[in-house]
Amino acid sequence: MEWWRHYSTALRSHCSITPLLHHFMPLVTVACHAMATRFEIALHGDNPAALRAAGEEALAQVEQLEAQLSLFRASSEIAHLNTHAANGPVRVTPGLFALLQKARKLSEESNGAFDITVAPLVRCWGFMGGDGRFPSPDEVAQARAKVGMGLVQLNRADFTVQFSREGVMLDLGAIGKGYAVERAAEVLREAGVTSALIHGGTSTVQALGPPPGEASWKIAIETPSPAPTTSPTLLATVPLKEEAMSVSGVWGNSFQVAGRTYGHIIDPRTGEPAIGTVLAAVVLPSATETDAFSTALLTVGSAGHDALAKLRPGMRTLVVSESSGQLQVEAKGLQVRSAG
Ligand code: AMP
Ligand code: MG
Repeated sequence: MEWWRHYSTALRSHCSITPLLHHFMPLVTVACHAMATRFEIALHGDNPAALRAAGEEALAQVEQLEAQLSLFRASSEIAHLNTHAANGPVRVTPGLFALLQKARKLSEESNGAFDITVAPLVRCWGFMGGDGRFPSPDEVAQARAKVGMGLVQLNRADFTVQFSREGVMLDLGAIGKGYAVERAAEVLREAGVTSALIHGGTSTVQALGPPPGEASWKIAIETPSPAPTTSPTLLATVPLKEEAMSVSGVWGNSFQVAGRTYGHIIDPRTGEPAIGTVLAAVVLPSATETDAFSTALLTVGSAGHDALAKLRPGMRTLVVSESSGQLQVEAKGLQVRSAG
């Protein structure tokens, strides 16, 4: 019960998802702070000591990935790339190279709605470590010239990365947590864990096998609201088993000008924050893919929902749009409880 209580408090500052753990108390829970958020793992099984050891090993994997991928750590591989890759080819570890290839593929599949080169635009709109600001058209034009996967060369022969010009910057903020959750889940599986749930910052959650006696884990998605609320309402309950879900939201990291909300998710194709969509959720087997695609779905919104949902068979999705204070919910394969 304690973990649940702590957890629901933490949630109030985010619009996101809640594992409904009070129904089935986990045998062992472990947690750590990484990637500017809290990662938690709930595990079931016969041997608590072995479960705890597996959970701690999985969290160590998350911490190691943070050290490798964080834009904000001067010693990370990503920071090293951002500093040097415009001057010539920079060799990276095979694991990062594979992730960058994956990010390129996800960018192509989403027609550029998801793009890890969006960083200059995120910075220009004041969302890189800030709460947002309205840039001048000239600032936006300058940032746009530095955005696009076409400016990033990935050389498979020697695992090197090179940028075509100065100012290109990679930001794995929309995929890194999902990737870390997926890699941590692999650590758990390799350790023989069969029943577990892992989440990173309540925005990406991955389920292994369900708790004893249950058909699945159950994850709640709260109805998004512009301001933190002490009495959130339930938008949907999502059953998960051997699959992942990510939720991307705008409220909580946005600012308003003339009644319009400008959030931290930027459409790399227009250079402007995605407008009109306040929440997007995606369910698939891979947490790396759900993280990238929930960001892409928030970017394309209702208009691009059909096309995006066709990218993987069995993909379950949710889009919440807002207009004049009214929420509109579109779901594919997910059961919506209330339209808010
Ligand atoms: P998420 O919460 O996973 O949707 O990721 C949002 C974060 O990813 C933002 O705070 C930015 O750092 C970055 N970002 C914003 N827009 C995009 C985009 N269109 N594609 C990829 N990353 C983005
Ligand atoms: Mg994401």
